[in-house]
Amino acid sequence: MTDSYVSPIAPGRSYYQDTVERPRFARLEGAEKVDVLVVGGGFTGLSAAIHLARSGVDVALVEAHRFGDGASGRNGGQMGTGQRLWPGEVEALYGFERSKALFDLAEEAKAHLFEFIAANDIDADLRMGQLSVAHKRKYLPEYRGQVETLKSRYGYHSVSYMDGDETAERLGSTRYFGGIRDTGTGHVNPLKLLVGLAKVAASSGAKLFEETSVLSTRRENGRVVAVTGHGEIAAERVLYAVNAYGPDLDRAIDSHVMPIGSFIGATEPLPEGTPVLPGGEACDDSRFVVRYFRKSIDNRLLFGGREAYTSEAGDITRHIRKQIAEVYPHLKGVRLTHAWGGNVGITMQRLPFVRTLSPGVTTIGGFSGHGVMLANFAGRLYAERVAGNRDRLAEFEALDIPAFPGGRRLRASLLFLAMTWFSLRDKL
Ligand SMILES: Cc1cc2nc3c(=O)[nH]c(=O)nc-3n(C[C@H](O)[C@H](O)[C@H](O)COP(=O)(O)OP(=O)(O)OC[C@H]3O[C@@H](n4cnc5c(N)ncnc54)[C@H](O)[C@@H]3O)c2cc1C
Repeated sequence: MTDSYVSPIAPGRSYYQDTVERPRFARLEGAEKVDVLVVGGGFTGLSAAIHLARSGVDVALVEAHRFGDGASGRNGGQMGTGQRLWPGEVEALYGFERSKALFDLAEEAKAHLFEFIAANDIDADLRMGQLSVAHKRKYLPEYRGQVETLKSRYGYHSVSYMDGDETAERLGSTRYFGGIRDTGTGHVNPLKLLVGLAKVAASSGAKLFEETSVLSTRRENGRVVAVTGHGEIAAERVLYAVNAYGPDLDRAIDSHVMPIGSFIGATEPLPEGTPVLPGGEACDDSRFVVRYFRKSIDNRLLFGGREAYTSEAGDITRHIRKQIAEVYPHLKGVRLTHAWGGNVGITMQRLPFVRTLSPGVTTIGGFSGHGVMLANFAGRLYAERVAGNRDRLAEFEALDIPAFPGGRRLRASLLFLAMTWFSLRDKL
């Protein structure tokens, strides 16, 4: 199944890449004219293309490299519940009503993904269960409070509070003090999901092109004409679904969605009975520089962490192995067969960035490490907007996401300083 393809935009060969067969699609040669052009072949773009094509819209999707080379094919696969922020944090920014509306949308997003996987018979290794655990004892009251809030104010009852003993048992590690167990969400193999989406998009009639980068755009006779390396596409509407991978496409995307490197290591398959997540849940922890891990279908530990704030992937293996040993001392020295990274697109508020950039041109991205469930749904919401049925995307577009301070040159350095501080705080 392994092919020799090396993505030009992502460090390392992923475990997913070596175990999932990806179909290839031709690049665009010549001129095309469509109703909607989608730029970017991750979850957002592919989902938008599927739902547009299914509602009868003539849609083309162009991907600069191969589908899944961006974050969607290389991530931790954890779906989560709600937005990236706890509901209380969203409430502090936007009040209860909007926070509840955003939570409900995320619940719909989850239901949408479950249904989509089932209805299209996608073998995405979906497994249920998510543990969110506290690496400091002082966070426990907050975790307990979140469970109460989710149940009483948000009507979400699939969560329970775990004390230290239960946490240790479910994790197979005594390194955390307690946490939340969520049986209403789960995790997937993201590349399997992405390949499933690409196949459904193709069979729905969307025109799909790989190795087709949009280099520039111009307006002509009321249409946007996107110029690619070997052709051009004229469209009435354009969706930029480039997330943290579209530098220089649009200033607003650049200033609102910051690429941050996140890295994952895959161990060799663990012997049966190794005390690591015996219930098969996924796990994320309370660090600001979050650690996230789960077991693959073939019993490897996929462990993510060490967000790096420069573009250098460097010594992923060494760092991830060290972090694994901190959580699972019995895995000290475990062999990593794969180590890779990708760009997480974050926003200042850690909530998605949706904006109408100019008439007919929209961008969706910046899911801030929470896009497996949300990006898939956001693509569908875009298609609903275009079809004129409903405009639930407006709920996201109304969010007041500020630009990163520091302008184009300084913002990465400022973020590096801020993140270094947060990472230090995590350790203290
Ligand atoms: C290591 C890692 C771990 C993560 N873990 C999780 C997790 O466990 N749970 C979770 O919910 N989220 C996670 N995320 C985030 C999640 O992967 C993203 O939120 C989601 O995949 C975003 O999807 P997208 O379609 O918006 O963008 P992407 O998948 O990044 O796709 C954007 C695409 O646009 C293309 N593109 C850019 N410019 C152009 C151009 N000019 N022309 C044509 N194409 C272009 C790129 O090549 C890219 O393929 C993780 C991300 C990373 C990197």
